Amino acid sequence: MAFEYDDSNIFARILRGEIPNDTVAENDHALAFRDIAPKSPTHVLVIPKGKYVSFDDFAANASADEITGFMRLCAEVCAKEGVGLDQGNQGFRAITNAGSHGVQEVPHFHLHIMGGRMMGPMVI
Ligand code: C5P
Repeated sequence: MAFEYDDSNIFARILRGEIPNDTVAENDHALAFRDIAPKSPTHVLVIPKGKYVSFDDFAANASADEITGFMRLCAEVCAKEGVGLDQGNQGFRAITNAGSHGVQEVPHFHLHIMGGRMMGPMVI
């Protein structure tokens, strides 16, 4: 069964400029913006500009340029937010939720980059 992308999801609307966002960084293939309900001092969402429902959709179907653009933007966010390990910072957590078991709310692939405090144990 194919991944079915819903063009009315909130991140699609952000990408179309219909809803404002607090942009942290952007390149040709991805956009990074602050989560509207942050769970940590740094809580940034990185989304591809292409129409991918979830991590597995992106991993299976995105082009090499899209994947590289997405990952490089993640690195830029870590550096800008002062959580990247290369600067001697104390690190971060990067997570993605997929589908109903993953408790994904917005059906456009996004990576949460969270830091600025000690994270708890992984919650399952
Ligand atoms: O991974 P999941 O789909 O559950 O997370 C969606 C995230 O999108 C939430 O952390 C929520 O706060 C965030 N969000 C946002 N801006 C919106 C709607 C949701 O940052 N307009």
